[in-house]
Amino acid sequence: YYDHQTTIYLNGEFTRAATASTDLYGQSLHYGYAAFEGIRAYKTVGSDVRIFKAEAHYERLKRSCELIHIPYPFDNNELIEASYKVLELNNLQEAYIRPLVYCPPGMTLKAAAASHIFICAWNWGAYLGDKMLRLMTSSYERPNPKAFEIESKSSGLYINSILASEEARRKGFDEALLLDAHGFVAEAASANLFFEKNGKMYTPALGNILPGITRATVIELCREMNIPVEEKLFTINELKTADAAFVCGTGAEIAGLKALDEYEFPLPWEGSLCQKLQQAYKNRVTGRPVSAGATLV
Ligand code: PMP
Repeated sequence: YYDHQTTIYLNGEFTRAATASTDLYGQSLHYGYAAFEGIRAYKTVGSDVRIFKAEAHYERLKRSCELIHIPYPFDNNELIEASYKVLELNNLQEAYIRPLVYCPPGMTLKAAAASHIFICAWNWGAYLGDKMLRLMTSSYERPNPKAFEIESKSSGLYINSILASEEARRKGFDEALLLDAHGFVAEAASANLFFEKNGKMYTPALGNILPGITRATVIELCREMNIPVEEKLFTINELKTADAAFVCGTGAEIAGLKALDEYEFPLPWEGSLCQKLQQAYKNRVTGRPVSAGATLV
């Protein structure tokens, strides 16, 4: 992720990642009390680099902090500018950007009185790879919204994702699919889910999931492309009658599903609505018209 030349943004300054330091007594390190974002920059048609939905990501970072009482004294326009500068200073174009808000030393369980911000970036291919994935229904549930602020993209919450995705990998799958506390499908360990059935798209309703920015983009694309889309609660059994499905997230982008547990999605990927949305998403992030067809690489 970094080497001796990598430059990061840390509390208003650009500095070398290798020599920057943090405090071992930090509340974030001990309690996972921090919030972060995952953002991507793309080379667009005009060949300039554009951070996709930068405002939405920094707005979510702010909300993530507010939900768990971490102060957010930052100006999002400045953070967006700093993100572009981090890309430039590291000669990055197509890159993944990771801002992290973390707290100073503290061993109590009181809300932090202050916070720090750090932004780094690195080259990262599609997080779950570019092949069709096999998902496993996890034995772990997503945290109950009554136990956690689940719409906060906070560091501690990701132990749930680590446990679930590690369990799936150990059993030979690519990624985990988690249910909510009522047994409805929630989301994958690192991405939201959509499925296609009889010419319509479905995705779990908000309430037990991270409100994904890619999920919102897919819903926008469905509306623009006149593809019917519905947000609703559904079970694993219903999902196992779907024609096709994908998971989506900033890191994963749109990754098609080959199977869920023993169930193989029957519709060929080529020509499915899922595949059209995958293509439209590539066009959207690279600044092409959604209906432009295959992107030229
Ligand atoms: N759910 C979880 C648990 C995630 O970690 C992510 C990735 N941030 C997503 C959904 C997708 O969110 P986004 O599209 O905003 O990246």
